[in-house]
Amino acid sequence: MTRRRPVVAIDGPVGAGKSTVARALARALGFAYVNTGAMYRAVAIAARAAGIDPDGAAREAELERLLERIRIGFDGERITLDGRDVSAEIGDPAIGDLASRLSTIAAVRARMRDLQRAAGRDGGVVMEGRDIGTAIFPDAEVKFFLTADVNVRARRRHAELAARGATATFDEVREQLLERDRRDRERALAPLRAAADAIEIDSTGSGVEAVVERMRGRIAESTRAA
Ligand code: C5P
Repeated sequence: MTRRRPVVAIDGPVGAGKSTVARALARALGFAYVNTGAMYRAVAIAARAAGIDPDGAAREAELERLLERIRIGFDGERITLDGRDVSAEIGDPAIGDLASRLSTIAAVRARMRDLQRAAGRDGGVVMEGRDIGTAIFPDAEVKFFLTADVNVRARRRHAELAARGATATFDEVREQLLERDRRDRERALAPLRAAADAIEIDSTGSGVEAVVERMRGRIAESTRAA
């Protein structure tokens, strides 16, 4: 398939700075920004409202029915569920955890894949998640895998949550982060890992601007070479 403008995939673990960097990069390039984690979180909000037990025996069938009737909309920063803006609600750590549990289920991943492929079909998009470079757009023109030291990631998450008024301690946040990473890496379907052709960037000692500049340089190189 040929696209006039590239798909830029950014994958990586919790708290690596994907959202901040992806948003800034998209703005700098004049591309659309798609946060695929937000879509999984919207499904989690719908599943919680429907009372679906993520460990229940009927979860697969219940989720299939749920996915048939809900409508997920996204437009840059805004994510809607059946027309209702849930952009603030999705930041709840309990929703992040439920999203991670539900993301192991085939029906959920299949529906998200269709939505995400449709959103990136024409290129000109920066898409962030866990499996964009490996499963959603294995043919993405440029792939990044963003990481950072676990304590730095936990500190960022902790500060983010504290700013939202959450009272979890640093150790609790670090524990939850490691648990979510483990689940994302060990699941059978589209586990979190760097694509063979992804450019790995460690953001431990770097600010957002420096990471974005590095990415812009690599994008310019890759698209010139193509
Ligand atoms: O990125 P964020 O933390 O919002 O994602 C929430 C959860 O959704 C992740 O922990 C992961 O389990 C799941 N997810 C995924 N594939 C993606 C994006 C998110 O499985 N592309």
